[in-house]
Amino acid sequence: MSGVIPFVDLKAQYRTIQPEVDAAVARVLASCEFVLGPEVAAFEAAAAEWSGAAHAVAVNSGTSALHLALLASGVGPGDEVITTPLTFIATAAAIAYAGARPVFVDVDDRSMTIDQARIEAAITPQTRAIVPVHLYGQPADMAPIRAIARARGVTVIEDAAQAHGAEYEGRRCGTLGDIACFSFYPGKNLGAYGEGGLVVTDDPQRAHIMRMLRDWGQERKYEHLRLGFNYRMDALQAAILGVKLPCLEAWTDARRARAARYDELLRDVVRIPEEMPYARHVYHVYAIRTAARDALRERLAARGIQTGIHYPIPVHLQPAFAHLDYREGAFPVAEAAAREVLSLPMYAEMPDAHQLEIAAAVAEEVHAAVC
Ligand SMILES: *Cc1c(COP(=O)(O)O)cnc(C)c1O
Repeated sequence: MSGVIPFVDLKAQYRTIQPEVDAAVARVLASCEFVLGPEVAAFEAAAAEWSGAAHAVAVNSGTSALHLALLASGVGPGDEVITTPLTFIATAAAIAYAGARPVFVDVDDRSMTIDQARIEAAITPQTRAIVPVHLYGQPADMAPIRAIARARGVTVIEDAAQAHGAEYEGRRCGTLGDIACFSFYPGKNLGAYGEGGLVVTDDPQRAHIMRMLRDWGQERKYEHLRLGFNYRMDALQAAILGVKLPCLEAWTDARRARAARYDELLRDVVRIPEEMPYARHVYHVYAIRTAARDALRERLAARGIQTGIHYPIPVHLQPAFAHLDYREGAFPVAEAAAREVLSLPMYAEMPDAHQLEIAAAVAEEVHAAVC
């Protein structure tokens, strides 16, 4: 037994890029230009190029990215926005911040992303947008979602907070809808050393509105055209992200190799995550499923193996959204997932020995937990 096996080890990654990161931080400190400015502009240019979208707007979190994408798409009070109940609360919170009502649609049992076959039935005259979430790093089934949206005249906003570099039918997440949002929370596949987020779009109009709204609704200093926000990215995060972006592909390949190894080791032990035929999954989370999830998690913890649950309470059952009046049983597929998913340690630098130990422990403890 080694000591604790962490869920993620950010220090391991930092060690591999420390000289470049430290130099970037020193450069920003020397400049004393801490908010927006040339560092953020440079990162936006690199991020636009990386995403394949025409415009990239850097902000202070993935949540702010979602909020601005919704506002720039004209979402407001009285509108409904369709999304998934199996996501981090931020997706639905941003919809509520915009004054709109989140309308949930159950997930597909294989992909764990929004079930495109159920979207049509949830659309009403108030529906203004659909926000598919590329959960765990796997794209939602975007072709039918786009077709439904186009036919009904609603906007598609990708929540790609977990899906940096993921692909749908060979196309990168971020250009699969009208507008897309990324998070750079430290634990995300591309993580800042603090908070950060990004919106990308081909639409110059939306990009313009978001640039204005992230900086107090001003185009010229102290002339506030709309009620805006302090959603600006800071220069330290932009400089650090600029160092990390070129590494992302290699880190993604390493995650995919780790996932393939878990698949091999655990295929006959638990239900492993399924990479859909259309997808390049980037495994932000490697989530297995087992009915004995809670017992397994405790037993792994007792052996020093950290795990996560993404997510234990589906959003429609969160007390914060009680006023939306959803009941248990409304979305059985998402609710079953919430009871059964268990996220295993997953990061590019994870030592082989850790992965073998985790897989062996899961095999032993799954057996023990069901007997
Ligand atoms: C992390 C995350 C967000 C929010 O991003 P922050 O940067 O933490 O604000 C939104 N949606 C999903 C699916 C996420 O995983």
